[in-house]
Amino acid sequence: MPTFEHETLGQRVLFGTGAAAANLAVEVSRLGAQRVMVIASAFQAEMARAVAADIEVLLWHHDVVMHVPIEAAEKARSAAARHGIDLLVCIGGGSTTGLAKAIAMTSSLPIIAVPTTYAGSEATNVWGLTEASRKTTGVDASVLPATIIYDAALTLSLPVGMSVASGLNGMAHCIDSMWAPRADPINAALATEGIRALSQGLPLIATDPHSVEGREQALYGAYLSAVAFASAGSGLHHKTCHVLGGTYNLPHAQTHAAVLPYVLAFNGAHAPDAAARIAAAFGTADALTGLQELRKRLDAPKALSDYGFTAEGIAEAVPLILPAVPASNPRPVTAQDLTRLLQAALNGEDPAILLDR
Ligand code: NAD
Repeated sequence: MPTFEHETLGQRVLFGTGAAAANLAVEVSRLGAQRVMVIASAFQAEMARAVAADIEVLLWHHDVVMHVPIEAAEKARSAAARHGIDLLVCIGGGSTTGLAKAIAMTSSLPIIAVPTTYAGSEATNVWGLTEASRKTTGVDASVLPATIIYDAALTLSLPVGMSVASGLNGMAHCIDSMWAPRADPINAALATEGIRALSQGLPLIATDPHSVEGREQALYGAYLSAVAFASAGSGLHHKTCHVLGGTYNLPHAQTHAAVLPYVLAFNGAHAPDAAARIAAAFGTADALTGLQELRKRLDAPKALSDYGFTAEGIAEAVPLILPAVPASNPRPVTAQDLTRLLQAALNGEDPAILLDR
């Protein structure tokens, strides 16, 4: 057992299918809130109204934009201040949670998060803002939601394609946390169970999108994945996707889903313990086979070229990613390695070409 230092973030987690409205009412009352702001996109307004049916809402905010542009954050911050809000409730995917975090960052208002995708932002103390096409992220204790309310019924409407991409975003949190800067045995245990739950839940969703069981497994796995990621930090995979998403405005979940097998192939042989844990969680002989078999069953996003990335971007992205690669990465990374990895991910090539045999 290595020597390690682990921080566990304090949150209350309420998990219950069909129980979001009741759980929200209990939590609002427990926190003693009187002036509640509910954040949900216009697209999810009806769902949000049903979830908030049993609480008094002072302010509805529907102006949610992907990647939290600073202008949207400022607008939401002023609205919260103007109305003397004392509690933020966000109902939606990672973009909606991100907007609540942007308000909490400057106001320290508590957040109750009701996630409707598998992005996992609700379980991290990481914020993200976009200014002049550059995405900045940081860690701040004040953005960690006080309570998470998980209700698998709210994810039933998430289309299969988005569910698969979002679930593989969770899978990426699990796998990358195995070699991230603060990787430790506690994170690895959480991540391993996250991989097992996601690999069980996602095929159920793909076969039957109305299966509550698959949705519950995926949400449970998404939570574990985010706890592991928040504790372990960003590894090679997240550093790569951060540059790709921020610089080329690629869709978050699909980018993570497409890049993951290449990072696993690149690092796997150099992190034998992590690879063995990942393989065991998939129930396969080796880690990459487990991931690829799952991706095949799910018809997962394959090539970054399908999401707006082009060959011209590779030479620009490599020098942005290289200095951010953590020293903890199990395999040394050169500009040539990154170029090859991005080329393979761009074209959806067989990730096995990146194995260090
Ligand atoms: P998203 O929130 O942008 O949602 C994706 C799409 O799914 C949207 O069109 C949304 O309207 C739709 N949607 C959401 N829930 C739905 C439902 N139940 N039914 C039907 N449609 C639904 O995407 P995301 O992948 O959830 O989140 C991505 C964002 O979250 C990015 O900005 C990313 O940086 C951030 N993120 C942050 C962290 C963190 O720790 N800070 C972690 C993961 C992701």
